[in-house]
Amino acid sequence: MPFISGKTMLDHAFQHGYAVGAFSAHNAETIQAILWAAEAEQAPVMIQVGQRVIHYIGLEAMKVMIDTFAQGMTVPVCIHLDHSRQYVQTMQAIQVGFQSVMFDGSALDFEQNASITRKVAEAARALGIGSEGEIGKIGGTEDDITVAEEDAMITSVNDAVQFVEATDVDYLAVSIGTAHGIYKNPPKLAFDRLKEIRDAVNRPIVLHGGSDVPDEQIRRAVELGIAKINVDTELRQSFTLGMLEVLDANRDEYHLAVSLGRGREVMQQKVQEKIRLFGSAGKAEEVLRLL
Ligand code: 13P
Repeated sequence: MPFISGKTMLDHAFQHGYAVGAFSAHNAETIQAILWAAEAEQAPVMIQVGQRVIHYIGLEAMKVMIDTFAQGMTVPVCIHLDHSRQYVQTMQAIQVGFQSVMFDGSALDFEQNASITRKVAEAARALGIGSEGEIGKIGGTEDDITVAEEDAMITSVNDAVQFVEATDVDYLAVSIGTAHGIYKNPPKLAFDRLKEIRDAVNRPIVLHGGSDVPDEQIRRAVELGIAKINVDTELRQSFTLGMLEVLDANRDEYHLAVSLGRGREVMQQKVQEKIRLFGSAGKAEEVLRLL
C-alpha cells in the first residue's frame, strides 16, 4: 500500500509530461473501482474526498476505508482533500493522514485566499505532503456551491504569479474554461493562457471539471502542463448507469452486491479509460522509485 505525497507524485507527472487522474470517491465501491483501475493500468492515482462525501460518510471514515481497500495494492496512491473551504478541515485531513490537501479560497478576495492558502501550504510542507490552491473561479456546481457562467473567469497570468509568490503552494488550480459537471455546449479550453501561466509559475497545474471534456483538448492540456485532472461527474454517471442496467433488467433485484457491483465494474472501466487518456498508465514503477 504505497501512499505517497501529492507533491512527489505531481512533480513527477509535470516533469514527464503526463497527468495523474484525481478521481472522486463516494462510498466503498467507488473507492474500489478507482484502486482496481489504477492497479490494472499500473498507474499512480489520487483518490479525492470531497465536501459532499464528508457530510455523508465522514472524513476519517473515508480515510480508514481507503486505507483498508488499498492494502495489497502495488501502485502509488495519494488521498487528497478536495475543495475544502475551511482551514480547520484542511488541518483535520492532515491530522488523519491525507497525503494532499486543497484549500479552495476562490470565493474569498485575493488577500484572504492567499493568506489561508499560505498557512495550509506551510503546514503541508512541514509534514511532507502536498498542497493545492485555487485562483480564478471555475464554473458549474460542486458540492452544492454554484458558480454562474458569468462569474466563471479565465485566470489571469498576473493573478496566478502573484498567488504563487504569496503562497508557494505546490500545485495550482486555475480556471481555463472547464466547468464542474456535464456541458450543455462543449468547452473550449484557453490553451494560450494555460501555456503562459505554466511558463510563469513553473509548477504542476490542476484542471478541475475534467468530466466530458473532449479527448483532444485533454491531451493538449496535458502537453501544456496540466499534471492533475479532477474527474467526478462522469464516474458517478458510469456507476449509476451500471446500477440501472441491473435494475432495468430486474426491478426485483434486491441484492445490493449485484447492482452496486455492476456500478463498480462500469465505473472501473471509465477510470481506466481516463488513466490511459491522461498518459499515466504504466507510470507506477517510475513513481515508486521516488519513495
Ligand atoms: P467534474 O465533476 O466536472 O468531473 O469535476 C470534478 C472536479 O473538478 C472535482 O474537484
